[in-house]
Amino acid sequence: MRHWTREFLLLALCGALGTLLGGHYGHAGFGLAAGLGLYLLLTFRQLRRLYRWAKAPDGTNPPSATGLWGELFDRLYRYQKRERQQQAHLQGVIDRVERSSEAMYDAMVILDAHAALDSWNAAATRMLGFEQPQDRGQHVTNLLRHPRFVHYFLAQHYDDPLELPSPVDESRTLQFQITPFGDHERLMVVRDITRLQRLEQMRRDFVANVSHELRTPLTVFTGYLEPLAQAAETALPPRLARGVAQMEQQADRMRHLIDDLLMLSRLENEQSFSPRIAVDVAALIQQVHSDGVALSKGRQTFELKIETSAELLGAREELRSALTNLVSNAVRYAGNGRRIELRWYLADSGEGCLSVSDDGEGIERRHLSRLTERFYRVDKSRSSATGGTGLGLAIVKHVLLRHQGRLEIESSLGRGARFTLCFPAERVSLPTPSDACAD
Ligand code: ADP
Repeated sequence: MRHWTREFLLLALCGALGTLLGGHYGHAGFGLAAGLGLYLLLTFRQLRRLYRWAKAPDGTNPPSATGLWGELFDRLYRYQKRERQQQAHLQGVIDRVERSSEAMYDAMVILDAHAALDSWNAAATRMLGFEQPQDRGQHVTNLLRHPRFVHYFLAQHYDDPLELPSPVDESRTLQFQITPFGDHERLMVVRDITRLQRLEQMRRDFVANVSHELRTPLTVFTGYLEPLAQAAETALPPRLARGVAQMEQQADRMRHLIDDLLMLSRLENEQSFSPRIAVDVAALIQQVHSDGVALSKGRQTFELKIETSAELLGAREELRSALTNLVSNAVRYAGNGRRIELRWYLADSGEGCLSVSDDGEGIERRHLSRLTERFYRVDKSRSSATGGTGLGLAIVKHVLLRHQGRLEIESSLGRGARFTLCFPAERVSLPTPSDACAD
């Protein structure tokens, strides 16, 4: 306010002096105009200094001035300094983020709202071959042309990552994970998982080899055990006969375990190839039903519901194995006098679903999410006593993975259990009208 008063006084002084001087010569009006003109001149002079300073390089000291103009220059200078400091701080943050992203081992690519390449780090150049600046603005599918990537990218279901061979080195495997952010932009993180995959492969090979190697001694062992067990009851004292019977039982369990381990590693090894042969599910489920009835030996009653004549495009033996595991579980865990239902139907979504349900003891909810883990058992002693290997549901899960299906488990303690295998509609093959007529 003080400066404003001073400025106003200066204006008044110029006006008064001009009027006085003009009045002295008989031209008070001219004198006032000249006084005000002088004030304007002084103001223009300061404006010119302000303009020159504004054009000067950043950091130049402001012109020295007093009064309102001095205050104005000072404030502008402080404002400019604060802006410079903030800018330097922000630039520092940006530089740090850029440096850390450059140092990252994983590739990071930012795609704009039109899926064109916006920016990427050095790892992206190394792993994906993106070049600066010529690839900037290119649609990502122009540069990553693998059909599986194009399909994954356009489908926009980014919950699960995608694994592909590197476009610059076929021997390396990359894992793509895309996260949408901001205004339809996407962040693509690409990891080199070659080492991890090799370790996984080594683990799978190891399990497969050990299982395979165990098969031969076990065959020899059971080969001798069989006649021994047959003769044991009459030729051996009861204690030894019991021992031989137990050996036979355990050898049988071991054989099942080896078979399941081999089946699992085969399913895992062939994960990327998914078979598509038309399987007559009605016939398949009937066969599994008969096997279940035989296994149950009258302890449970069975019901079979075939609600569609649709076929499934997949691998028959794998589907049979998955279904057999579920039926065998129902027989072993539901308990005596229970009802087991097998059902083949089409869901409203068009999915083909196979379900095995029982009204037995069921499973506590807290176990449900872990049931498909290898060797996970709700009741270890019960599973072993019933000949379980702990691998049955893991096999089911892998069969479904290979068929792009999903497993639903509904159960609670005392209320039975339902295991449903749902296969995508594109794997369901409905009979053509001519097939129906032929029937
Ligand atoms: P296991 O060889 O032990 O049967 P699975 O992987 O087939 O291994 O099953 C895992 C566990 O799930 C079993 O140990 C059992 O406790 C439970 N389970 C599976 N099916 C049923 C069922 N129909 N009723 C109750 N429990 C079940």
